[in-house]
Amino acid sequence: MTSTNETHDPKLRSWVTSANSGASDFPIQNLPFGRFRRTGSPEDLRIGVAIGDQILDLRSTGLIETADMNILMTMSLKERHRLRAAISEGLRAGSDRQAAWANALQPQSQSELALPCRIGGYTDFYTGIHHATSVGKLFRPDQPLMPNYKWVPIGYHGRASSIGVSGQRFKRPQGQVKPLDTDKPVVGPSRRLDYELELGFIIGRGNALGEPITIADAEEHLFGVTLLNDWSARDLQAWEYQPLGPFLAKNFATTLSPWVVTMEALAPFRAKFDRSPGDPQPLPYLESGANRERGALDIALEVWLQTAKMHAAGETAVRLTHCNTAQAAYWTAAQLVTHHTVSGCNLQPGDLLGSGTLSGPAQGEAGSLLELTLGGKQPIGLPNGESRSYLEDGDTLTLRGYCERQGMVRIGLGEVSGTVLAA
Ligand code: CA
Repeated sequence: MTSTNETHDPKLRSWVTSANSGASDFPIQNLPFGRFRRTGSPEDLRIGVAIGDQILDLRSTGLIETADMNILMTMSLKERHRLRAAISEGLRAGSDRQAAWANALQPQSQSELALPCRIGGYTDFYTGIHHATSVGKLFRPDQPLMPNYKWVPIGYHGRASSIGVSGQRFKRPQGQVKPLDTDKPVVGPSRRLDYELELGFIIGRGNALGEPITIADAEEHLFGVTLLNDWSARDLQAWEYQPLGPFLAKNFATTLSPWVVTMEALAPFRAKFDRSPGDPQPLPYLESGANRERGALDIALEVWLQTAKMHAAGETAVRLTHCNTAQAAYWTAAQLVTHHTVSGCNLQPGDLLGSGTLSGPAQGEAGSLLELTLGGKQPIGLPNGESRSYLEDGDTLTLRGYCERQGMVRIGLGEVSGTVLAA
């Protein structure tokens, strides 16, 4: 597991002055990776590092040779550390690289961001125990959590083809819904469209088929973290989910933030993995001292909504909810990697593992409308007089994430937005 080093020094400043404002998600202590091109140009995607309101074109600096993020992500931990140190040094105030690298900068405002890498496989987990409990209560009041929940990280294989980058606009899904008062299902647009507040873990180095990744090695295979919105059609889900789990309720769109914040950047923002003594303790393959000590992530998360009416009136988004990852997740990212491969399954560079909906312990900290509105029974009032049980056409939903700690410079994950269009 990465420890802090000189690249995390809170005293570091960049010659890219917008990185030093204290308000930017991308100070020199962050250095997240993404893919970009000039807005409207047909040029190939380039690998960039966000710094303040700029993007550093990494290949132009001479630090990397590949133009393929999926190849870059297969670097060993040592190579990743070396690259991060070189980027940090070159961007530091006073660096002799400034004159050369100034030409490698491009304003984010003039850039089009793509998905950070090619995503081959997408697996969505269910680590949010408060989410699992609240949702379970809606369906099974006497047994909200299934007996396996505290033993095995629950997950399913999702759909990669419909994953889009922040700014994704997608049509409300249609599908089968079974109304309570009829015997037969009907087909039509979902009326219970929801979001799910999640983190997306991006796999760097893969493993060979049949060769599980141990918990000790798990983080070496994790390249970094993004924000992920797992849009969910609750009415489709309720009808189709038994016995094999989610299918069409989830496969129409999933939206990812463009910047991958590396595990190295997150080193100052790790937290203890706590397992209450009354709960089953993880089986040995999911257990390690390092995972206990610093396996969890101290990332604050927020959800913002702007309706079409608010947009038309020039009103800014309103915050629906907020929570902290460390309090929400029952399993750590390392445990997800290890569990995913214990069968011998091979992960590949660019695979995406979703955390599952992250909800805090309090009612107002829920990471989905299903929970916030108690299954649609308690609509949320918005400042302009509108209300929401579920998402409506024209709604734009934005997830944000950031890390703050005493004595460290705040870093952000940026944001992921998506807009619902009519079916
Ligand atoms: Ca999910």
